[in-house]
Amino acid sequence: MRVGLGYDVHKLIPDRPLILGGVQIKSSFGLEGHSDADVVCHALIDALLGAMGAGDIGEHFPDTDPRYKNISSLKLLAHTIKLVKENNYTIANIDIVLLLEEPKITPYKKKMQDALAKTTGLQSQQINIKASTNEKLGFIGRGEGAAALAVVLLNQ
Ligand code: MG
Repeated sequence: MRVGLGYDVHKLIPDRPLILGGVQIKSSFGLEGHSDADVVCHALIDALLGAMGAGDIGEHFPDTDPRYKNISSLKLLAHTIKLVKENNYTIANIDIVLLLEEPKITPYKKKMQDALAKTTGLQSQQINIKASTNEKLGFIGRGEGAAALAVVLLNQ
């Protein structure tokens, strides 16, 4: 068994789609980044790479590479899942914490779980998504950005 931890943060800016866990969330702010800046997928990718001892997202998908400009992070996740399979690992479970002051994520959690299940080839019950505000504290609390943490357990 191998465990991996991932963390990501992106800045919230006006007039950009807010994509979290592969799902478009209704909001007047979105996350700034080279790709679609989906912090949930990015934290999950880093957790998977970490568990495999395979470095980090920046090494695999550099933000200087025009191929990844505005790319759906579900595609980056799908590529990472390919690596998981090539290395003969299976995923036991995924646990994610999303930190975002607003909007409320509860109505989208099931959709996010389904999108991640589809891309990872897991059952929805193997993926847990928790969303929390930051109690108005710090940059997340001020609505300046969003962050996500992910933990995965791999079996070989
Ligand atoms: Mg990122």
